[in-house]
Amino acid sequence: MSVSVVLGDITVSHVDAIVNAANCSLLGGSGVDGAIHRAAGPELLRACQALGGCETGQAKITPAFALPCRYVIHTPGPIWRGGVHNEAALLASCYRSCLSLALEYGCRSVDFPSISTGVYGYPLPQAAHIALRELVAFDRTHEGMALRMVCHTQEALRAYQVDWNMFYQETKPHEE
Ligand code: ADP
Repeated sequence: MSVSVVLGDITVSHVDAIVNAANCSLLGGSGVDGAIHRAAGPELLRACQALGGCETGQAKITPAFALPCRYVIHTPGPIWRGGVHNEAALLASCYRSCLSLALEYGCRSVDFPSISTGVYGYPLPQAAHIALRELVAFDRTHEGMALRMVCHTQEALRAYQVDWNMFYQETKPHEE
């Protein structure tokens, strides 16, 4: 099992790719998006401007510029609107789209933030369940890619650990 859950700041991750919880414009925003753009420098915005936006649930990739990783995979998550507007399928699609781009670009380590659970308001327990389900399913069919959920708050970390213990206890995430 190469899925793990850690507490941290994704902008300092030394991995092949980090995922950005972006918005559809791909032109930067608040939360992790703002932090990634600040740490990557202005070239990231120029690279994103050339992409022409991205649909919710899809993903696009850029170089990482001043960040310590190689690539940034940008994915706009769904805005939570009560859970009856296809949010769950769209959130799952974010994780799958990012993983498929990571595979295409030969990445062997990918760090994810908790997509949609900041300003987009997705309830943490449900978002954690979808995120881990998608990462574990991918891991079972694609060996050799290290996948980490990088939680920025204790609350997020707890939500991911609770889901992990409930559904994947037999396959403990490796400790860091
Ligand atoms: P969204 O619009 O998809 O909700 P946000 O950036 O507002 O995106 O929040 C997504 C998640 O990213 C939240 O759980 C937030 O705590 C987390 N986050 C914010 N900054 C960082 C960071 N530097 N590293 C990792 N996660 C972060």
